[in-house]
This record gives sequence, C-alpha cells and structure tokens, in this order.
Amino acid sequence: VIRTEPRARCLACGSEGAPLHEGISDLMLGTPGRWRIVRCRSEECGLLWLDPRPVPEDLASLYAGGYFTHDAEPERGQGPGLRDRVRRAIQERLLGYPARASVPDRALAMWVSLVPWFRAAALRDLYWLPARETGRLLDIGCGNGRPMQRLIGAGWWAIGIDADAQAVAAARSAGLDARVGTLRAQQFPNGHFDVVLMSHVIEHVPDPIGELRECHRILKPSGSIVIATPNALSLGHRFSGRHWPGLDVPRHLQVFTPKALTRIAAMSDFAPVSVRTHAGIAANWLLASHCWRDAEGTGRAAGLPAPDTRVPPRWVALARLQSIGCALGVGWGDELVARYAPVPAAGPV
Ligand SMILES: [Zn+2]
Repeated sequence: VIRTEPRARCLACGSEGAPLHEGISDLMLGTPGRWRIVRCRSEECGLLWLDPRPVPEDLASLYAGGYFTHDAEPERGQGPGLRDRVRRAIQERLLGYPARASVPDRALAMWVSLVPWFRAAALRDLYWLPARETGRLLDIGCGNGRPMQRLIGAGWWAIGIDADAQAVAAARSAGLDARVGTLRAQQFPNGHFDVVLMSHVIEHVPDPIGELRECHRILKPSGSIVIATPNALSLGHRFSGRHWPGLDVPRHLQVFTPKALTRIAAMSDFAPVSVRTHAGIAANWLLASHCWRDAEGTGRAAGLPAPDTRVPPRWVALARLQSIGCALGVGWGDELVARYAPVPAAGPV
C-alpha cells in the first residue's frame, strides 16, 4: 500500500482545488489504490494536482513495474531515407541547423513544412532550439538518451542525468555522458549550462519550484530552460477525460496549464521566451486512452500500446485537427513545450 499525504493548496498560486476526476486507478502499471485529481479554482492558473498524493519516501516504488523513462514520443531514425532528409531540411530552414540538403530536398521541405503536423514533428525533435544558440546542454531525465543523441547529432554538447540506473546504463553503452542520481547530487558549478532540458520530468517532481531554482543556479545568465510536459488544457484531455495518459496517476503529482507553468517558472526567477503546445503525441495518446478505458475495472494494467501499433483513422483525424488548432495558436496540443530565460533572483538566496 502506498502511503499518502493531503495537498490542499495549489503550489503555483495557493488557491484551493475543486475535484475534477475521482476514483481513478493506475492503468499504466497497476499501482494499488484509487486516486483523485483536483483543479485549481483560480481562472488565472488552472493547475491540476493529485490530492492526496504519495509521500516522498514511497515515490520510487511507483516506478517499479517497468516505467519508460524516455520520451513519450516514439523514436524516429535519422537515417538517409527521404523522410529524415526532409526533416533535416525543415530543421535547416526553420532553425538554422546546417543539413547540406540538396535543392530538391529543400524545395520539398518548403512545402512539407506548411503541413502543421510535419512541421511540428521536425521542430519538436530539437525542442524548437535555434542553431545559433548551440552550446552545453543538460538533459534532466535523459532516459536511454535518444533525445540527447538527436541534439548531439545537431551540434549540441550534451550530458544527461536520470534516476533510473538501467536507462542510464543503456545511454552510456550508446557512448553518451549519462549519470545516475538527482540534480542536486551532481553539484554542477554555477552558470555552467547554456540550456537545461526537462522533458516529461516536472510533473513527477514533488518540489518543482526547488528543482527549477537549482536549474537557475547552474544556467548561464544568457541560457534558457526548456520544459516539455502534458498540457492540462489539451483537446485530448477534454476528449479522453479521466483516461487521458497525461494524468498518469499516481506518478504525475501535478499537471500544468501554460499559465500555471509560467507561474512556477516566475516563482523560480524565470521569464517566458516561448510557450507553445503541439499534438505530436496526440494519436498515440488517444489510442492509449482507449485501451485504458477498456481495462478499467478488469483489475489489470494496460500499459502503453506498442509504438508501431496502427492508430485507427478517426483518431489520426482527431490528432490532425489538434495539430491544425496548435498551428492557429489554439492551445489544443497534448504536450506543452515552454522555454524560459533566467532573470536575476529577486531577493537574497
Ligand atoms: Zn493555482
């Protein structure tokens, strides 16, 4: 049995929460217990959080059943095929990474980049980071290191940390500089990194503000932090409700809206550079939520569908609609990708 503690107040604004989803079970790994998600009552925030939530000492046991500590998104190759060449040509065109693309590939990339889901997939690979800022990057929660490999391939110098020793071993065997443990335990020097990346991490952390303050300390004043996390205001959440994979009880202790994330960033002395949502994971999450809906009440966990599972056309269509909404600036995407720059700390530390 997982021990729990109540969380009455919103960590971003201090307001009370109102119940949103009650009696949800862990359909990913089958952790025992029923969980409740509440939503911050403030319109200017809207944070979701688990109340009650597991006590910090029991958090590690929530991942025992084989949790995948890497990207939620299925991995794509960076091979010589047309698809990857066009992707690199889009990254060259829109972010400035040298791809040495041929004239026909460039022409194709120009047209393909007008399609919202292709454009977002190519840019999300490099987290919308422009080539001119390339430097030293820390990937917190690097998992098996696939995103690091993509970034290194584009010219970044990257090191990763992760709590999962098995994932770190996999990253190291691929030749990456990856280390096991918490961020604080690394004792990185002040002002060491150009970019800190936290992809699908902040929703798991019991003290996100403390973690972001440590990121602030190790970033150069000219640097930035990139945070990728589920978007509580997504069309996917509205459509799938309590079965939306972005909730992932009881491992996601909080799920952010763009406003709530920017609020906790501000509390950690960060100012927004860009805050966007995209729908690159939407089709897979619709499929997962369907599996979870079927598994509910059967007493078994459904896990995540294999990355190569064929997604039924109606969900592909819904995911594309989400993509079009994102391209038009509607915050419909299942994933929130925000970039913040450090500002000088307001008071004595
Ligand atoms: Zn709030």
